[in-house]
Amino acid sequence: TKHVPFSSPLLRDAGYINGVWTSGDAAGTFDVLNPATQEPLASLPDMGAAETRTAIDAAHTAQPAWAARPAKERSVILRKWFDLMVANADELAAILTAEMGKPFAEARGEILYAAAYIEWYAEEAKRIYGETIPAPSNDKRMIVIKQPVGVVGTITPWNFPAAMIARKIAPALAVGCTVVSKPAEQTPLTAIALAVLAEQAGIPAGVFNVIVGIDGPAIGRELCGNEKVRKISFTGSTEVGRILMRQCADQIKKVSLELGGNAPFIVFDDADLDAAVEGAIASKYRNAGQTCVCANRLYIQSSVYDAFAAKLAARVAAMSVGDGFTAGVEIGPLIDEQGLAKVEDHVGDALAKGAKVLTGGKRIDGAGTFFAPTVLTGVTRGMTVAREETFGPVAPLFRFETAEDVIAQANDTEFGLAAYFYAGDLKKVWRVAEALEYGMIGINTGLMSSETAPFGGIKQSGLGREGSRHGADDYLEMKYLCIGGV
Ligand code: ADP
Repeated sequence: TKHVPFSSPLLRDAGYINGVWTSGDAAGTFDVLNPATQEPLASLPDMGAAETRTAIDAAHTAQPAWAARPAKERSVILRKWFDLMVANADELAAILTAEMGKPFAEARGEILYAAAYIEWYAEEAKRIYGETIPAPSNDKRMIVIKQPVGVVGTITPWNFPAAMIARKIAPALAVGCTVVSKPAEQTPLTAIALAVLAEQAGIPAGVFNVIVGIDGPAIGRELCGNEKVRKISFTGSTEVGRILMRQCADQIKKVSLELGGNAPFIVFDDADLDAAVEGAIASKYRNAGQTCVCANRLYIQSSVYDAFAAKLAARVAAMSVGDGFTAGVEIGPLIDEQGLAKVEDHVGDALAKGAKVLTGGKRIDGAGTFFAPTVLTGVTRGMTVAREETFGPVAPLFRFETAEDVIAQANDTEFGLAAYFYAGDLKKVWRVAEALEYGMIGINTGLMSSETAPFGGIKQSGLGREGSRHGADDYLEMKYLCIGGV
C-alpha cells in the first residue's frame, strides 16, 4: 500500500492566485477525505466569492500579455507542462487515488490521458488558422482572424480530477485565454498538484488560477456574474449546467457544458459476444461506473440475452473490489455516502419492480463507500435505472427484439452524450450509428475517449466539444475584417 505523500512537493494547502499560493481572506477550512478509508487527507482554505474575484482580476490583467506571446512560446510552455506531468505521473496518480478512490493503475492512466490534452493543444496552439474569403467586389478583401475569448472560468467534477481540468485549460491557454479554475470540493488536491507543475513549467502569474472551496454556488455566481469573465466551461450534472447557463444569460456569456449522460449499450444477436462482454466491462465498470459516458442501460437482443448475462455476470463476480492502492483492485469505492445511497436506491427500485440480481446487489460493509459490482436481469422501462444515470457499478440488462424497437428505447431520454453498440452486419452498423441521437458512438468498442477526438453531447448532455482540433474553437472568437478601397 502506497500512502499519499503529504510531504509531496506537488501539494500545497492553499489556492493559487496570480502566481501565489494563498488562502485569500478565507476564514474557515474544509477537509479532503480518502473515500476508501474516510480518513482526512488535507485541510484547505474554504475560499469563496471574494477570492474568486481577486483571481478573475489577476487573470484579466494577465490575459493581454499571454495572448500577445507568439503561439510557439505558449506551445513550448504547455509542452513543458506535459513533460512534467508525465515525469510525475506516479506522484500525481497517488494523489488522485487518495482523494478520489479509483484504482492506482486507472489513476495513472487518467494522468497520462490528461497530459495528452496538454500535449495535443501545445501542438494545436501553432495551428489556429484564419481564412481569406473571395470578395464579391474587386475593391475589397475579406479575412477572418481568430482571437482568444479572454478570461475563462472552469468548474469541474470529482470523477476525473485531472482530465476534466486538462481538457479545458489546455485549449484555453493554448489559444491565449487565461483561466480561473474551480475543482470539485471532493478532489481539489489533484488540481493543486497540476498548478504546482504549471508554475514549474513557466506558466506566468495570473494565467492559471485555482480556487478551492466548498461553496460551489457562491464561486459559480461570481464566475458567471463577473463581467471580466467571458466564458464558462463546466463539466458536471445537467442540473447545475442549467443553473450556470441561466446565470450566464444576463451577460450573454459563452458557455461550454459537458453534462450528464444515460448511455445505452446495445448488443445485437450477430455481435461477437465475448468482445461485447469485454466492452461492457470497460464501459460500465471503469471508475466504478462513475463516468458520464458509462454504459447505463444495456439492451441485449432476445436470442443472446441469457448467454450474454451469464458471461457478463461471471466476469463481474470475479472483479476485485477494494482500496485503489491495493494491487490488482479493479473497483474502488464510490466517491461518497450520497453516491452510494443513489446506487442502493436504483438497485432497490429495480428489485422491488421485479428485476433479479445475478451478482452483487449491495454495499460492502466497512469504512469505505464500496458497492459490489452488480448485474441485474429482467430490467424493464418502468424502473429508475431506465431513466436516470446510476453512476455506480451496476449493469441493468434490458431485453429487446428488433432494431427499430431498441433504437426508439435508446433515444427515449433527454440525454445524448455517448452510446455503444455491438453488431456484425455492416449495413446495420451504419443505420444504427446514424439513428442513435448521441454525440459519440462506440461501435464494437467500449472505450472511445481520446484527446484526438471531439468529446461532447447533444440534447441535454451539453454544448461544445472538448479535444481534437474542434476543441480549440470553443475558446476562440471569429473576427471578420473587411478591407475596402483596395
Ligand atoms: P457531481 O454530481 O459530479 O458532483 P455537480 O454538477 O454537482 O456534479 O458538481 C460539479 C461541479 O459543480 C463541482 O465542482 C461542484 O462544486 C460545482 N457546483 C455545484 N453546484 C454548483 C452551483 N450551483 N454553481 C456552480 N458550481 C456548482
